[in-house]
Amino acid sequence: MQADQETRPCLLLIAPPNSYRTLAYIEAARRCGVDILVASEGKYSLVAAVAGGLHLDLDAPEALDILLSASRERPFSGVVATDDVTVELASRIAGALGLPHNPPRAARLSCRKDLSRHALAGAGVSIPEFRLVDLHKPVIPQLEGLALPCVVKPLSLSASRGVIRANTREELQSACARVSHILAGEDLPDPHTVSHVLVEQFIPGPEVALEGLLRDGRLDVLAVFDKPDPLQGPCFEETYYITPSRHAAGVLGNIHTSVTAACAALGLREGPIHAELRLADTGAVVIEIASRTIGGECARLLDFGTGRDLESLVIAHAIGKPPATRIQPGGAGVLMIPIPEAGILRRVEGISAARAVPFIEDIVISIREGYELVPLPEGSSYLGFIFARAPSPQQAEAALRAAHACLKFVVAPVMKLVDADGIPVL
Ligand code: ADP
Repeated sequence: MQADQETRPCLLLIAPPNSYRTLAYIEAARRCGVDILVASEGKYSLVAAVAGGLHLDLDAPEALDILLSASRERPFSGVVATDDVTVELASRIAGALGLPHNPPRAARLSCRKDLSRHALAGAGVSIPEFRLVDLHKPVIPQLEGLALPCVVKPLSLSASRGVIRANTREELQSACARVSHILAGEDLPDPHTVSHVLVEQFIPGPEVALEGLLRDGRLDVLAVFDKPDPLQGPCFEETYYITPSRHAAGVLGNIHTSVTAACAALGLREGPIHAELRLADTGAVVIEIASRTIGGECARLLDFGTGRDLESLVIAHAIGKPPATRIQPGGAGVLMIPIPEAGILRRVEGISAARAVPFIEDIVISIREGYELVPLPEGSSYLGFIFARAPSPQQAEAALRAAHACLKFVVAPVMKLVDADGIPVL
């Protein structure tokens, strides 16, 4: 081992090959003076070019041993998982090495919506009423007692993929057929997550997202984001995230208490938390709780002073250095640019005018010209992001709306055959 390696901490980052959070962690580690080893699948990943890489099958039983033997060569000071699919493996390695970690069971609960719902219900946390539905059996008899409208959702996908609202029994059947088709096209390691979905009560009301950091079971709220556009379905495309929240202090207290209770119910104790809640008449209802960051582009909104970002805080915590978590004053927001229609993206016009809108910090178009735009529920990527930073959250939101209005998306149609349920026919 070289002399500087003896003094520099080394972080193990466990990332699926398609993670859009990896680069943000690599850059943050560099800024923090921390070496990084990225464990991932696929030998042609971008990662190997920019950081130490270890290629392995993350689902294989020997993954744990391979990583533990890597730690004997270069001891890890911390372990971070970028995405839901790697949180359980990360918790096992960190546990074996005596580093801050969640119990593996808690990590597993946090990325399986059915297991999570059972644990939260058992602990009395406010969640929507739900049923676990076997897609190989008739759907309606499995939903006895559940009122419409409902939401159908996969057990282990993310970013609202396959999440569909249904107002009638017919819509429910067709939503289940559509989700079943999406699941069949995924490479999901657990067959249970292909043959089952959750169907739960639709909770009306404004939605918020909470970004937090757990330390020894205590939740530090880093930011609460308002989602100012109503999310009514049938699909739930993320659009505006604005922080700080403009909800009253009492409501924010209720959100904090609900997420704390949800973390305790799942057994989560360490590291990042991303939660989504609806604010119903009866109080905050937990829709989703994940033991990872909001991720990549959206995390750029959070500025914890002197250039510190969310990933730096997570790394500092993982290597046992207590991070300072005081967020900078002012408002910030992101618009995850909605996909205007299915088709081939020809071009995006008006970007210069949008950039010139006061308080707009950056515009990123992530889908290249000539590529296909696939809307939810089948699609999984955003067209791009607009970022704003302003003296207040109101100004940040207004800037995002003005910038979005400057953009024109030129989309050419793609011809595809679909059946009566809207499922593509090959
Ligand atoms: P994912 O993990 O794929 O993002 P979520 O369970 O978080 O899936 O659902 C995605 C979005 O769908 C939520 O942010 C919310 O807007 C909407 N949604 C999901 N479940 C419900 C529900 N029971 N009631 C109302 N809206 C819901």
